[in-house]
Amino acid sequence: MYNSETWIRIKNSDIKKLESAQYNFYKRLIGVPTGTPNIAIIMELGILPMEYKIQKRKLMEYQRLMKIKEERLTKKATMRAMEMGSRNLVDDTRTIMETHNMVYSDEDIVNMTKNQWKKLIERNLADVVNKEITNRCAEKKKVQHLIQENGNLKKYFTQYTWETARTLFELRTNMVKLDCNFGHRESKCCICGDKESTEHIFECVGSRGSQLTQQTYLRIIQPGGPDFNTDKAEEVTKEIRTIIKERKQIQDILNKYG
Ligand SMILES: [Zn+2]
Repeated sequence: MYNSETWIRIKNSDIKKLESAQYNFYKRLIGVPTGTPNIAIIMELGILPMEYKIQKRKLMEYQRLMKIKEERLTKKATMRAMEMGSRNLVDDTRTIMETHNMVYSDEDIVNMTKNQWKKLIERNLADVVNKEITNRCAEKKKVQHLIQENGNLKKYFTQYTWETARTLFELRTNMVKLDCNFGHRESKCCICGDKESTEHIFECVGSRGSQLTQQTYLRIIQPGGPDFNTDKAEEVTKEIRTIIKERKQIQDILNKYG
């Protein structure tokens, strides 16, 4: 990330590779499978996708060079060296700004402080990311119900233990270990025979006297994430982990002898 000269000439395919490394890093950090939708990572952890991280760097570097240019207008050697190195950056900056409808003249940019420019870039890129979340959620079955989310680090990751947070993440993104979440969409509940789903587990055990109910589920997937106190969050996630494990055992037995 440190040599902007290199980044200016970066290829799209290289950005994709960096992005996939970035997502895999976060997936390992949370402890979820690599098959977890990338959009879920962007949404729940509020990370800026690599493509936009690079764009942010370029825009920041552009302002830095514009400011230097003004200060060193008479120093021809510096200017020439800078212009040779920054020609691509100028084009890149134009393209990036056009893509995101950022309408600022060079004068606007130079007159901003570094921090003002940075905040402006961050705001613009956050809007872009949030639009992308809406679009990509609509296409992805696993996260369709989270379509109103914005990309930001959800509180549940900072409030609870990793284990609790991971279970909540899995519940919110349909990554809990149920057959229906892993390619077998038509799976039936091994207890009642209804169509299996993450939500159904809550309904199913809720109707049998568990503290887990559809209400609990709705609180988990609500925009911004669940708002349980720590004890409640730990209780709920512990119970759901036990239920999933039991159901897996029942399913295995049914598969064997059923
Ligand atoms: Zn059931």
